[in-house]
Amino acid sequence: MIDTHSHIYSEEFDVDREEVILRAREAGVESIILPNIDSDSFARMLEVEASYPDYCYAAIGLHPTSVKQNYREELSLLQPELERRKWIAVGEIGIDLYWDKSFFREQVEAFCTQIEWAIAYKLPVIIHLREAFRETLEALKPYKGSGLRGVFHSFGGSLAEAQEILDFGAFRIGINGIVSFKKSGLDSVLPHIDLKHILLETDAPYLAPVPFRGKRNESAYLSFIAAKLSEIYGLPLEDIDRITTENARELFRL
Ligand SMILES: [Zn+2]
Repeated sequence: MIDTHSHIYSEEFDVDREEVILRAREAGVESIILPNIDSDSFARMLEVEASYPDYCYAAIGLHPTSVKQNYREELSLLQPELERRKWIAVGEIGIDLYWDKSFFREQVEAFCTQIEWAIAYKLPVIIHLREAFRETLEALKPYKGSGLRGVFHSFGGSLAEAQEILDFGAFRIGINGIVSFKKSGLDSVLPHIDLKHILLETDAPYLAPVPFRGKRNESAYLSFIAAKLSEIYGLPLEDIDRITTENARELFRL
């Protein structure tokens, strides 16, 4: 399995990161993708990536909740890094109107700039959205047919939303611990979505799946998310692992 979204570089893992990685390997996680947040997280993320070569892969991007007055500065710190080395993706980027709506215009601006980076460098995007489905799809519209590809991470929406994402083309849907929550509704949405569109992710340290809900999440728990999908799709666990891994390898060129 590939954990396509994990913040194991965050402070929550400073005390036992080595064991966290070990448990992930033991649980069958073959790679972990690290999406960036902002200039505060960047160095930590790169440090973790360098400590686990061929296992952890860093993405480059400015998270929508970190888009404030200084977002241009933040972006100008990242931009030269695009040229400096190879990245697994541009992310995480997007629109989040749940925490704060006051920087909506700036969020859209930052989102579009980073989409253009992804297109220029032929990288997939890792999209984060919260309370902003319509706004995100609207912002993406001009890029339809541009070769842009990526994942809508942490999906918890309706079937209509999933279909709209897939109709856009070249986008996958990232499923995490939300799928194990009683009221997520994903158990009735996912059977209508072909498994070839699905990626597994933890979003660690957040959104730990049942039976760890509310606790710190970690990449090893990906197996609980896979098990839930096995139940929902009525397929053997090996098939869930194999297909979602192929999907992730294809999108991130791993
Ligand atoms: Zn994230």
